[in-house]
Amino acid sequence: MINIAIDGPSGAGKSTVAKALAKKLHFVYVDTGAMYRCIGLYVHRCGVDAHDADAVAALLPKITVSLSYAEDGEQHVYLNGEDVSFAIRENVISLITSTISKIPAVRAHLLSLQREMAASHHVIMDGRDIGTVILPGAQLKIFLFASAEARAKRRTKELISRGQEADFETILAEINARDIQDQSRETAPLVPASDAVMMDNSDMTIAQNVDAICMLLAQRGILNV
Ligand code: C5P
Repeated sequence: MINIAIDGPSGAGKSTVAKALAKKLHFVYVDTGAMYRCIGLYVHRCGVDAHDADAVAALLPKITVSLSYAEDGEQHVYLNGEDVSFAIRENVISLITSTISKIPAVRAHLLSLQREMAASHHVIMDGRDIGTVILPGAQLKIFLFASAEARAKRRTKELISRGQEADFETILAEINARDIQDQSRETAPLVPASDAVMMDNSDMTIAQNVDAICMLLAQRGILNV
């Protein structure tokens, strides 16, 4: 199976690029952030303190996460069979997710599911520790990043286009807070794999970013695209 790992900070456009690339290559896109968000949502709904690792770990046996393509052709994520694709995107869930994803039991809960998907399909998997921990043998590893300002600008635009309220400064502060939390945690911190290709997409369009990755796939003889 061909496995492509895309890691990087929040809001670097990993999922947008990974989705577009998956469509072009007819690969399965695996959004690991959505999986962590399902656990964050469940913890939130139970009213459990996200910082209480034991309490969060005790909930894990009750949580089943799955991904599948729905009738609209988009990938949807299910928490115990319920489609939570939209609910997991709320800001409060983003912050809780960043906290619970530090808990080793949470990471272990999702690790085998992620590896199983990569073993049975050609995948493009995006996340934080795909190249370093989940798929160290991936044929191509990309570490995608952009300046915090570029990411906050994109997120503000995205929210406004969806008719939601968005304040640039607040979003920028949240992005910086999540970056620090993701980079400084002890379990699976956000660090590039030593063999990852570093790609700054601050000034790239989505199409340019997809092309840049396709070029690498061709150059390395992984796929002829
Ligand atoms: O990518 P996304 O923003 O949806 O991820 C939500 C949160 O889940 C991140 O802030 C990060 O803390 C966590 N995460 C993780 N490992 C992954 C994917 C996401 O820790 N592979």
